[in-house]
Amino acid sequence: MSVFQPDSFIVASVSPSPNFDERKDGRPPDMMLLHYTGMKTGDEALQRLTTQASKVSSHYVVFEDGRIVQCVPEERRAWHAGESSWAGETDINSRSIGIEIVNPGHEFGYSDFPLRQIAAVISLCKSIITRRGPISADRILAHSDVAPSRKQDPGEKFPWGLLSESGVGHWVRAAPLDLEGSGIRPDARGEQVTRLQRTLRSYGYGIAETGTYDDATRDVVTAFQRHFRQARVDGVADPSTLLTLRALIETRPAPLP
Ligand SMILES: [Zn+2]
Repeated sequence: MSVFQPDSFIVASVSPSPNFDERKDGRPPDMMLLHYTGMKTGDEALQRLTTQASKVSSHYVVFEDGRIVQCVPEERRAWHAGESSWAGETDINSRSIGIEIVNPGHEFGYSDFPLRQIAAVISLCKSIITRRGPISADRILAHSDVAPSRKQDPGEKFPWGLLSESGVGHWVRAAPLDLEGSGIRPDARGEQVTRLQRTLRSYGYGIAETGTYDDATRDVVTAFQRHFRQARVDGVADPSTLLTLRALIETRPAPLP
């Protein structure tokens, strides 16, 4: 496959992947999806993302030392989201730019993301926004947000707060853990569960309003916590989780024109 020109000057090198096709609806991407690689080394991950048989790819890979490698041109549709859903859309690959961040992940020794790696992720996201035009802050998401029952990445160590301080992504400081009240527990039923599901759905999560705190609901609450209330990730909608969710909804950026 042919080497292409990188989309940005901050890209250190190009490692072309054969795993891409055309964006399905012809619209430019208006989402960024952040992942961790979840393999022992970054080189191993890059190998997989550029090998035809794997049928996976991403636009970018960001190494621990901040080095950025591009594998698929932004114009094309990379294969990183898999079966997923956000705000009623299910072809997330067509809608998004995928960024793989090198980290062994939960399976191989989940580690803190080095600051220089995060700085590179921030620069990359900013460069995408600057070149392509605005991407709404609340559409810069975790893989786990769009595939809560399948994916955990980039996980609860990913510093979304730092990104947001740099103007990348929508985030609020999480409410403290030790709030009074009982919250909503798995297996609960009724109007309060429906309301929770409706609220999560209104933010974009792919969740049905069943009125029962079922496994799918638990998975979505867990994904929400991994992104927005990282101090405890247990799938229980405790008062801190509910308050953080409310603050997030209230501070949501206005839709782009
Ligand atoms: Zn992922």
